[in-house]
Amino acid sequence: MESLLKVSGLQVSFEMAAGEVQAVRGVSFHLNKGETLAIVGESGSGKSVTALSLVRLIPSPPGKVKSGEIIYQGKDLLKLPERELFKIRGSEIGMIFQDPISSLNPTMTVGKQIIEGIRWHQKIGVTAAKEKAVQMLTLVGIPNPEKRIAQYPHEFSGGMRQRVMIAMALACSPKMLIADEPTTALDVTIQAQIMRLMKELQKKTGTAILLITHDLGVVAETADRVAVMYGGSLVETGLVSEIFYQARHPYTWGLLASMPRMDWSKQRELQPIPGSPPDLFDPPPGCPFADRCPYAMNACHEEMPPETDVSPTHRVACWLEHPEAPSVDREKAGYK
Ligand code: SF4
Ligand code: MG
Repeated sequence: MESLLKVSGLQVSFEMAAGEVQAVRGVSFHLNKGETLAIVGESGSGKSVTALSLVRLIPSPPGKVKSGEIIYQGKDLLKLPERELFKIRGSEIGMIFQDPISSLNPTMTVGKQIIEGIRWHQKIGVTAAKEKAVQMLTLVGIPNPEKRIAQYPHEFSGGMRQRVMIAMALACSPKMLIADEPTTALDVTIQAQIMRLMKELQKKTGTAILLITHDLGVVAETADRVAVMYGGSLVETGLVSEIFYQARHPYTWGLLASMPRMDWSKQRELQPIPGSPPDLFDPPPGCPFADRCPYAMNACHEEMPPETDVSPTHRVACWLEHPEAPSVDREKAGYK
C-alpha cells in the first residue's frame, strides 16, 4: 500500500506557568492511501494533540512542535510556508471535530459556508459551487437539501450538523480526513449512522481517514489499522486483527480486558485501568506505563522500551519483547 503521510519522531510540548507539559513524546506512524487508521487512548494520551499538530493547528503559544517530520506527499508540513499549508488544509486534508456547533459559523447559512469552502479552494463559480453543495448534502443523507441549504446551523439537530461538517470536509475531495472524536457528542444510534456514512463516502472517494477515538466499538467497525497511545507515546500499532486478537502491549491488554471477546462492537467505552497516567510535566525516564503495569521489570522504570516489529504491520514498544525478558502468558494476560 502506498503511504500518504509519514510522521517521524513528533514531539509536542505546551509551555505552561507550572512548567512544560510533554504532550507528545516522539511519535512515529504512517497513513496509507485510502485506509482508516484509528488512534486510540485515554483522554490526555496525546491523540488530539498529535492530530492537530499534523496540520499545525495546535494553539501556539503555548503549544510548540519541538521536533519531528510530517511528510505529506513529499513535503514536510512542519516546514511549509503558512500560505501553502493553508491551501492544503481544507482542500487536501479535511477536518471534522467533535463539536460541530463550535466549528460552524452560527451567523451564516449552512449553504453559504459550504459554498465559500468550495470556492476558496476550487476555481468555480457560485452556481457550480451551489450545485456541488446540494450534491454534498444529498450525499451525506440530508433530506430536502435545496431547502436546507438556506438554513442556519441552529436549525439542524446535532446529528444533522455533524453530517453538514462531513459534507463540508468532503466537498473538496480531500485525500485525507482527520476526524477527532467525530461522533462522541452524539447518541449511539446517530454515532453508528455517521460512522457508516463516513465509511461509505470513503469507499466512493478513496479518502484516507485518521480517526481519533476512545471508542473501541467504533474502531472495530471502521478501522483498518490501530495505533494505541499512552502518556504521549505510541505503545502499539497494528492491523485491527493484530490489535484485537494478538495484542502484545500490557496497556492494550488492559484496554481490551473487559471486552467480550466475540463481540467487540457492543463495547462502547474504554474501561478504566487501575492507577493514573504519568505526569507529563515530569515524565518518567522509562516506560510511561511502568507505574500501572503488572509486568513491570527494573528496566521498565529506567529506560524507554525500544520499538520492536513483531510482524511487517505490527509494532510494539515494550521490554517484554526483549529476548531476555521473562515470558508472559499473553493469551491469559489479554483476556483475564
Ligand atoms: Fe510493562 Fe515494562 Fe512493557 Fe512498560 S515496558 S508495558 S512497564 S512490561
Ligand atoms: Mg481529544
